[in-house]
Amino acid sequence: MNDNLPLCCSFVNGQWRRSAGESVAVLNPANHRQVVAHCRYADAGLAKSAMNAAVGSFEKWSRQSVKHRCSILRRAIDLLEANTDLVSRTITLENGKTLKESRSEVEATLKDARYQLQAVAETDWRIPGNGNTSGSDHYVQREPVGTFLLITPWNFPLATIVRKLVPALCFGNTVVVKPAQLTPGAACHWFEFLVQAGLPEGVADLALGRGSAIGEALIGHSALAGISFTGSTEVGLGICRQAAERSVRLQMEMGGKNAIVVLADADLDRAVEATALAAFSCAGQWCTSTSRAIVEAPVYESFLQKLKSRIDKIQIGDGWKETTTMGPVISEDQRSICLGAIEKAQSEGAVLLTGGRAVNVIDGKTGYYLEPTVFRDVQPEYSLAREEVFGPVLAVMPVENAEKALELANATDYGLTFSIYTRSPEWADRFLNEIKAGVCHVNLPTAYRDAAYPIGGWKESGRGILECGDEQKHLYTRLKTVYRSLP
Ligand code: NDP
Repeated sequence: MNDNLPLCCSFVNGQWRRSAGESVAVLNPANHRQVVAHCRYADAGLAKSAMNAAVGSFEKWSRQSVKHRCSILRRAIDLLEANTDLVSRTITLENGKTLKESRSEVEATLKDARYQLQAVAETDWRIPGNGNTSGSDHYVQREPVGTFLLITPWNFPLATIVRKLVPALCFGNTVVVKPAQLTPGAACHWFEFLVQAGLPEGVADLALGRGSAIGEALIGHSALAGISFTGSTEVGLGICRQAAERSVRLQMEMGGKNAIVVLADADLDRAVEATALAAFSCAGQWCTSTSRAIVEAPVYESFLQKLKSRIDKIQIGDGWKETTTMGPVISEDQRSICLGAIEKAQSEGAVLLTGGRAVNVIDGKTGYYLEPTVFRDVQPEYSLAREEVFGPVLAVMPVENAEKALELANATDYGLTFSIYTRSPEWADRFLNEIKAGVCHVNLPTAYRDAAYPIGGWKESGRGILECGDEQKHLYTRLKTVYRSLP
């Protein structure tokens, strides 16, 4: 391994563990003959050491002032901003998204992180009660909780780590981060920034490795206080089961099957743009992407026509190239899942409007490319109307009226995000009141978000305390009621 490529490894108790563990090559999804980094995977023993280090550093870190903790994290965030290009290039090389999308991820991460710094700084640590009588001082005291495990996916390999870690540490907890095995580089950059910012050893530890190999050592640790997880519903629910018999706090952000409803009175051009943007950015691999478009009959054919023209303009290719507007999917496995869903949709009777094929070679590079794919006339009973694909595959469903659109939008086990395009305030209100989803939009794409507001899925899309906005204090602090009689 004397090829000058980065070596990603675990970071335990202030030390990079370069020689420990199985060695694995990280491949570029846009050119899978290109190794972009080497990775050393932690085994269960090293994962346990990471937990021990974080647990051991909790008492001291939790006693530091909020100002001191926030100042270290602020320096790390500033370093991230100064290294936006470096981190964006790593994300594109490992994940396949375009450089523009990677830069947007870094920018969104900075916004989230800075919002969290402000939210922690404004949090009351001592909340006075109304029941004070003469000679008494009763109040509620807020305290950090302990050591948290942060488990993150590959689709936003930087954003999902930072938006959990910043509030966790600023509120006085310690953490072990377990990033997705396919995208270790963004996590390693962030840990370099934490070290340069002066974070004391042990406070944040990084366990790089296969979830199936080290998950039990991490989740089974007897001193674990809580888990913040982002990933698939299947893995998330398995983790909930593993933690169920202990007092472990949970924040689970899981899968989705997000719908956009387009009523006949909508601004059709805006609705089409929002659909294409949220269905095919990041090759459809984001939890808030649009995967169902439910369109009212009078505008159904024109919606399809405009959508097809918009998709024809998408340039698939290496995200490194300026002209590329959609990169590959992350891996051969993920592409097989998408192709399986496409095949099943066809066998169930869905009609292909565009796309549907794998593309192996673009500009001489062999990657995990997939055409942006749209099925029309998808019926509610088809699997494509109900099951998450997590790729650039969109189901378009016709409905005879708004009432039926509402029924269909709710006809899934998931409930993460939702959007309606209409000029009618009455219909917008009716949908907003009756949709079973955690994040709703009117005339905005399903993926739109603002750092000041929480995100959390209903039904099978989420469990536990919501993430982002001002909700993080409910996960990362606990309350102690104090009744004090003055001497
Ligand atoms: P996975 O659920 O497969 O993995 C998520 C994380 O869990 C990875 O770090 C993975 O590690 C880890 N993991 C897997 N098995 C275990 C285990 N037994 N114990 C502990 N950790 C484990 O999801 P993907 O990474 O494939 O991401 C795609 C999924 O994420 C989609 O379903 C998507 O909907 C969801 N998602 C949800 C979001 C939300 O906010 N609701 C946001 C983004 C994505 P490893 O990589 O080593 O397997």
